[in-house]
Amino acid sequence: MVTSLYLMPTGKCNCVCDYCYCPEGGKRGDPDLFMRIAESFTAHICNSNPTARPQIRFTGGEPWLEKELLLEITDHFFRWVPHGWVVVNTNATILPADRLRDFRGERKLIHVVSLDGTEILHDSRRKMADGRGSFREVIKGVKILIDLDLPIYLNTVLDTESFAHLPELLRFISSELGLEELSISLLHRDEDPLSPVERYGLLENAYSEASSHSIRLGGHHRLLLGYWIPELRCDAGNSTALVDPRGMVHACQRFVGRVKPDCMWTEDFDWDGFKSGQQSGPVCGGEDDHHVGKKLYELYRKEYPEYLHSHHLDRILFGVLS
Ligand code: SF4
Ligand code: SF4
Repeated sequence: MVTSLYLMPTGKCNCVCDYCYCPEGGKRGDPDLFMRIAESFTAHICNSNPTARPQIRFTGGEPWLEKELLLEITDHFFRWVPHGWVVVNTNATILPADRLRDFRGERKLIHVVSLDGTEILHDSRRKMADGRGSFREVIKGVKILIDLDLPIYLNTVLDTESFAHLPELLRFISSELGLEELSISLLHRDEDPLSPVERYGLLENAYSEASSHSIRLGGHHRLLLGYWIPELRCDAGNSTALVDPRGMVHACQRFVGRVKPDCMWTEDFDWDGFKSGQQSGPVCGGEDDHHVGKKLYELYRKEYPEYLHSHHLDRILFGVLS
């Protein structure tokens, strides 16, 4: 049964990052279609009353480019599913601060914001469309969310270059922003992928740095541990469905543009019985990932037993955990 709906209402973005995972070539979806999808999902949740926490997650492109749609869907979902979550993955540079005031203190409206480092490093990779670095705008957005008492989590893309700046970033988010958690995503470049040894090395060092700054880490790498820690087993395509800007349904955001979609979303979409036929192998990884997961598991057992169970942060970051 689908309990976590991912919506990709637009592939457009106001930023031009060096690496952009959005494969939709800047297409905008039909807002009416997305509203109907959200209404249908909300009705399904009300009728089925699942034990898992129901959630709508916006991703993109930059979802806040579709602010009227986001606000309308969020209002509708919270009205009918008051215990649900709405999670927005955003660059935080165009938050509608005036409209978000209506949600002040609403702990169920959660933002996950991309921040790759302190100013020089972040601006070298993540720029606004006019070429300016986006760091100052991002921090302005982060402070708006903090002032409104809305939950915020940061995600940083990590590679060997950005790792050198990680201690500085950890200090900044802890002392300047008062945050205690950080999600990290390992940078994947098809043309120059990191080896399993490099990936594990980055993660091992990141855990060590984070520990010395009393910051908890999370991120997609945690799903590599599902074989050893069942709570972290990815259930994408059973409990999740993602709709891309064309209205096509996928199991997971990372499959968009890389794997054939399951189907087009239609009014009779079967939320109860959906089972994605997408093959996860080429995207979720194979033996190399298994190796990294095993090494991480050993690291947790030896150094960080607190990471051996799923944590609130894992569920904030992923709707794919059942
Ligand atoms: S903010 Fe996100 S969607 Fe926009 S260009 Fe950067 S990576 Fe792509
Ligand atoms: S289905 Fe998606 S979220 Fe799950 S492991 Fe694969 S890439 Fe990650």
